[in-house]
Amino acid sequence: MRQDWGITDASLVQRYKDGETIYELAESLGRSVMGVYKKLKKAGVTEFRKNRTPPDSRGAKSGRWKGGVSLGYQRARHGNWNQQRALALERDEHACQDCGATEKLCVHHQGDPANHSLENLRTLCSSCHIRLHRLHEARWGTKER
Ligand SMILES: [Zn+2]
Ligand SMILES: [Zn+2]
Repeated sequence: MRQDWGITDASLVQRYKDGETIYELAESLGRSVMGVYKKLKKAGVTEFRKNRTPPDSRGAKSGRWKGGVSLGYQRARHGNWNQQRALALERDEHACQDCGATEKLCVHHQGDPANHSLENLRTLCSSCHIRLHRLHEARWGTKER
């Protein structure tokens, strides 16, 4: 795996503790959310939160990843995700907007992952999506479809 994060574990943890979310860190470092999560965990972080202002952290039980850091969970909380996702697929004619593939489609958030407005959503096939997120694990494709 890549090592060069351009940031030490200690400062990553510090930024996280200072209030940045895993999403924000991933974005600003150009890394995958999962990558940041793993790195934080390796660096000794045990408590994971999803937002700047942590809600009741006990509520994160349904998380697919330990600690409740789950996109599915986070999106499910914004009730219209399923609907918006379906609309985005419809608009994009069920085809990857990068390569035109029509299988293993994901609906990607171009910006804020909590913003499900159609302008923020883009249909991608899992390989384009994975490439976009610079992910090495094939996680996104199966989850977000
Ligand atoms: Zn995405
Ligand atoms: Zn594609």
